[in-house]
Amino acid sequence: MSPRTRNSNLVPGGVALFHRVFTRIGCEGRPPHFRVEFYPYSSLVLTIRRREDLLIVRLSDLLSRAPLGVLESAAALLLSRVYRRRLPRALVQPYLTYARSGRTRSRISRMRGRRVRPKQAAPQGRQYDLAALFDQLNSKYFSGELRRPHIGWSVRGWRRQFGCYDPGPNQILLNRRMDRSGIPQFVVEYVLFHEMLHVKHPTRRSGCTLVSHSPEFRAEEKRFDQFTLARKVLDHLAR
Ligand SMILES: [Zn+2]
Repeated sequence: MSPRTRNSNLVPGGVALFHRVFTRIGCEGRPPHFRVEFYPYSSLVLTIRRREDLLIVRLSDLLSRAPLGVLESAAALLLSRVYRRRLPRALVQPYLTYARSGRTRSRISRMRGRRVRPKQAAPQGRQYDLAALFDQLNSKYFSGELRRPHIGWSVRGWRRQFGCYDPGPNQILLNRRMDRSGIPQFVVEYVLFHEMLHVKHPTRRSGCTLVSHSPEFRAEEKRFDQFTLARKVLDHLAR
């Protein structure tokens, strides 16, 4: 990690930019004091907080080479939160377009690969060994060709999710709550298989909850032997 990413950097011209946008979104009077910095978040994040009479703005340093229009749009979004302004679409759109573009998405995932370390999580649970299950599923459904990512049981039980694949650290985690004898092995296998399909069909999106399931993905998922039954058991567990 270079010193540049370890600390936040002031955004050149950032204060003037916020003053300009402050007026442009219809705020009146003297603008507040700002401190505007780029910050090495592990995703595209914008934050604003108040400390006495100072507004501290942090923009993900992914934006450090973004065009001025995108920075103005980001500033407008942040100021609209603080001052409760409705923004004209023309002011919102540049940031949204930038954030949703394929290029930005792939920069985010490359950056997450560098900044997000895999969580400490062991594949060997009390009941099931995920590394062994991975190898079996790999040879059965993927001709043994899938490269094994980091795999483990989540450290704590999750309420909502059974598993996730995070492409940043290249890690599959399964919900620890399934590591018990009351859960049939094929159910654990199905959840692992699903996450393995995410390894096989990478999306540009990062994190656990944003992954998408293409029709191709859904079709391939049905190749799992006890697909219907596994889904039924999981639906039941989710209740
Ligand atoms: Zn999924």
